[in-house]
Amino acid sequence: DTIGDNLDRTVAAFPQRDAMVDRAAGTKWSYAELKKDVDQLAHGLLATGIGKGDRVGIWSPNRAEWTLLQYATAKIGAILVNINPAYRSHELEFVLNQSGVRMLVAADKFKTSDYAAMVEQVRPKCAALEFVVLLGTDAWPALMAKGEGGDPAKLSELQKNLSADDPINIQYTSGTTGFPKGATLSHHNILNNGYFVGELCNYTEADRVCIPVPFYHCFGMVMGNLACTSHGACMVIPAPAFDPRATLEAVEAERCTSLYGVPTMFIAELNHPDFGEFDLSSLRTGIMAGSPCPVEVMKQVIDRMGMTEVSICYGMTETSPVSTQTRADDSVERRVSTVGRVGPHLESKVVDPETGLTVARGVPGELCTRGYSVMLGYWEQPDKTAEAIDAARWMHTGDLAVMDDDGYLNITGRIKDMVIRGGENVYPREIEEFLYTHPDILDAQVIGVPDVKYGEELMAWVQLREGAEPLTAEAVREFAQGKLAHYKIPRYVHVVDGFPMTVTGKVRKVEMREQSVTLLG
Ligand code: ATP
Ligand code: MG
Repeated sequence: DTIGDNLDRTVAAFPQRDAMVDRAAGTKWSYAELKKDVDQLAHGLLATGIGKGDRVGIWSPNRAEWTLLQYATAKIGAILVNINPAYRSHELEFVLNQSGVRMLVAADKFKTSDYAAMVEQVRPKCAALEFVVLLGTDAWPALMAKGEGGDPAKLSELQKNLSADDPINIQYTSGTTGFPKGATLSHHNILNNGYFVGELCNYTEADRVCIPVPFYHCFGMVMGNLACTSHGACMVIPAPAFDPRATLEAVEAERCTSLYGVPTMFIAELNHPDFGEFDLSSLRTGIMAGSPCPVEVMKQVIDRMGMTEVSICYGMTETSPVSTQTRADDSVERRVSTVGRVGPHLESKVVDPETGLTVARGVPGELCTRGYSVMLGYWEQPDKTAEAIDAARWMHTGDLAVMDDDGYLNITGRIKDMVIRGGENVYPREIEEFLYTHPDILDAQVIGVPDVKYGEELMAWVQLREGAEPLTAEAVREFAQGKLAHYKIPRYVHVVDGFPMTVTGKVRKVEMREQSVTLLG
């Protein structure tokens, strides 16, 4: 099946079920209505001259039109290019040119971002860019109007001629460790991934999934949208950009059964001053993913949010994204402390990064993934693709992991973040987990900073709870005395209000390291 075929199947099965709710716009679609708008938009794109293989960029915070465009492009075989809403003109120009975007659908304005002005600025420098459609202006209704009265037979004929292996989506990675790369994905890659994520969450047409994570990233558009539409579940968009209060409000008002987030989002919700006001009793499950999920936060999500079946997913943009997931029937202990086992029809192995040989269970090494989920490649970057995917089609993730005897995995960090202090390998993740147990610490991130004597020294950046007394490095070290091996105790502690972040909610340790070097003089 292609994504379009799959959507049509769901529509036929559950025409009257809710498909999508956009809370900020106050709009709502049943599956029948969703199909009507998606098909009309597909005809509108065709009438404009957009067809199979053309790149259509989307540059906007979350809103219903994002999703409509996702499915309409899939129906006609155009390639959707997800553009990070935090980008500014320079990055926009890079992405538009790198992927040869022919039509760009962009937000007009949002908060302090004047998208329209930035588009005008780069437009003359983007040779392939022919059409710009600004959301919130007359251009969108005009595009929809062009599709009115389109011939359904023409669209089904077109759909029949698409292959599930065609590229359908270019997703740029989060840019946590450097410059984002454009992962090129097929229907087969992302539709299967969304479907299996939904299977492991036990989604049915009765589920309502609250999606505060950005659509531009696979967490939103695959684990969110495609997991929902392949099971007849409803996509709930709480707000254009993450807002803890709006998210909690959406869960209550829409009686959501599932809630998504990266760890920092759940931390913000659980610590929101109004947390206790909301009725979250409809929640059954949800997904935490994207970066290391602290055990403490997982426990609170289960106990205080009632997400008893919550799972952790691990994956990356290049693998559509999910590779491993905890299951509802795993023990609670495993569900809060591991990233689960490899997903259906996928393979995982842990190798020695030097030799490439599989290591024994329990020994850390680089995690590799193989199967249907591995991307076609990085868009027009064959050498980067060859570095990441080997001849046997294993994707080398750059993440360090340990696999236990039963196949459960623990992600111990990124190879690039591992700290080697005086010859000892230190996994920042372990120290972060420890620091979370301090009653005054809200969030903690640990990095390595250059040191003359030990090569690298550990530095912790900590964010304190509201009302907490100031915390000195001395006090943190005292807290760790006797509980952590001496070489794992951070030498430096830096109190901050927040961390440098990507829009996908990941901490940019590269930036922390740069700033720390300046801080330490
Ligand atoms: P870039 O590749 O541009 O540096 P990125 O790797 O953050 O950015 P994504 O594809 O969005 O881009 O993220 C995938 C990465 O996120 C994984 O390689 C892994 O390091 C991390 N990650 C995802 N899920 C988890 C998880 N459950 N636990 C720990 N780390 C995770
Ligand atoms: Mg990556």
